[in-house]
Amino acid sequence: MSPKLRPLPYDTPESRALGINFWMTWGGMTRQQASKHITRLRHAALLRPMPGEVCGAHARTTGKPCQAPAGPNGRCKLHGGKSTGPRTLEGKARTVEALQTGLRLWRDNHRPDEQIESAVEVLY
Ligand SMILES: [Zn+2]
Repeated sequence: MSPKLRPLPYDTPESRALGINFWMTWGGMTRQQASKHITRLRHAALLRPMPGEVCGAHARTTGKPCQAPAGPNGRCKLHGGKSTGPRTLEGKARTVEALQTGLRLWRDNHRPDEQIESAVEVLY
């Protein structure tokens, strides 16, 4: 690597530890587009059906128990309810850590580019 090339903002040890360095492999996608896909993949993982289990929630339209496959929480995607957030201290700590990591990445991504700044100086 030539000395002029600095690592991309999202290619940091922190992002690598979090497995975020795959942004580069999402051919041509913007960060926002890739992020949407990843959110959906995570959501799909949360809703993965548990084999042989049905939701069983009362369905008002039919009056019968819901027959949709149940996710890990025992209910289907329609009857799972909202997230209640992290319950354990460990989970809450993870949330704070993720927030801090996200803020750090955001800050690093919004750092003005030295090369662009020097180019602007040449123009004036
Ligand atoms: Zn259901």
